[in-house]
Amino acid sequence: MRLFDTLRQQIEPLDMRDQQVSLYVCGITPYDTTHLGHAFINVIYDSLVRYLRWRGATVRYVQNVTDIDDDILRKSRETGIPWDELGARETERYLSDLRALNVVMPDHYVRASDETAMMIEMIEALLTQGLAYVRDGWVYYAVRKDPGFGRLADAGGYVGYDNWLATANERGNFPDDPRKDDPLDFVLWQAQQPGEPAWPSPWGPGRPGWHIECSAMSVKYLGKQVDIHGGGADLVFPHHTCEIAQSEHATGVSPFVRIWMHCAMVELDGVKMSKSLGNLVLVRDLLPDYSPDAIRVLLLGHHYRAAWSYTEDDMRAAAELAAHLKQAVSATPHEGEDTGVEAAQQARLEFIAALENDFQSPQALAALNRLAKHICASHSAAQITMLRELAGTVGLRLD
Ligand SMILES: [Zn+2]
Repeated sequence: MRLFDTLRQQIEPLDMRDQQVSLYVCGITPYDTTHLGHAFINVIYDSLVRYLRWRGATVRYVQNVTDIDDDILRKSRETGIPWDELGARETERYLSDLRALNVVMPDHYVRASDETAMMIEMIEALLTQGLAYVRDGWVYYAVRKDPGFGRLADAGGYVGYDNWLATANERGNFPDDPRKDDPLDFVLWQAQQPGEPAWPSPWGPGRPGWHIECSAMSVKYLGKQVDIHGGGADLVFPHHTCEIAQSEHATGVSPFVRIWMHCAMVELDGVKMSKSLGNLVLVRDLLPDYSPDAIRVLLLGHHYRAAWSYTEDDMRAAAELAAHLKQAVSATPHEGEDTGVEAAQQARLEFIAALENDFQSPQALAALNRLAKHICASHSAAQITMLRELAGTVGLRLD
């Protein structure tokens, strides 16, 4: 298989040594409902995992839940619901939306609040190397001490320090924090504030920064190097850029990630779907009108690297394609000699070729559509069996 690596900005072979693949995907901060952007990311990686397993690979798949951060604590204050109760409730709602879309759970679905020990261990390693400093119970990463910082940001289009700082400020950085040596230095550990939950650390009670969570959880569950690290394209900077800096220095292993695989943003009327803008299409609003297969067909109908806008026309077309596939696998097989074996094999080859080439799921769906058209004429048992198998490989139930 070949996938586009955001760091090298080109399509690279996925080195499947001994048919083992490790995949880490940045998960949610559970304080709101599942929209199509979340569904897109989860269905893409779910289909990738299903496909790799179908091809005989052993895949280890980890996703995190950022169950403690500023957004959750703010929402907790607004609603009066304790932060952990709120996180557990929203996580369960999110998972039930994903289950409805036939998304398989990762092998490890890890809550940040359970993993502070590994985070502390890595922060201590960074402090020992002089790449971090402690101020009043807070710990910061010193970006100026790290000459390699920012390669992924540069590759991803956020070129140079000024650009990094402006982007970080838009995304929650506090440049005027008086404890910082440099406005771009980011938080590894933050001291407990009044009324906030805290975990013990060598620097006093507090809670981890967001970026160190993913460094720690991927090292703990997948080792010092992962084959594929995924997430939304909006995580390239600062989140993933900071993860590289922390992980490679704390573990001494480089590269931390073999292939950075980022999913493009889903838009509505040309504007990125986001909680802050309120322009969300929610999975649970679509499910009463459209089958899970129809929604998966809509999502897989878009290549993971291309931003796209949701439209009802596209949703209806996806539902038609899903119905067409379902109708084809429900055909009564023709009795007697099966003349459709060759076309079934051809469809299999087209399907594989599409997904091996940077996971071109729209082309894979097109191969399924062609096979379904064959079945309408042939009622070939071999083709029906093949369509069911290939569709299942990208998580379509067709039932
Ligand atoms: Zn992450």
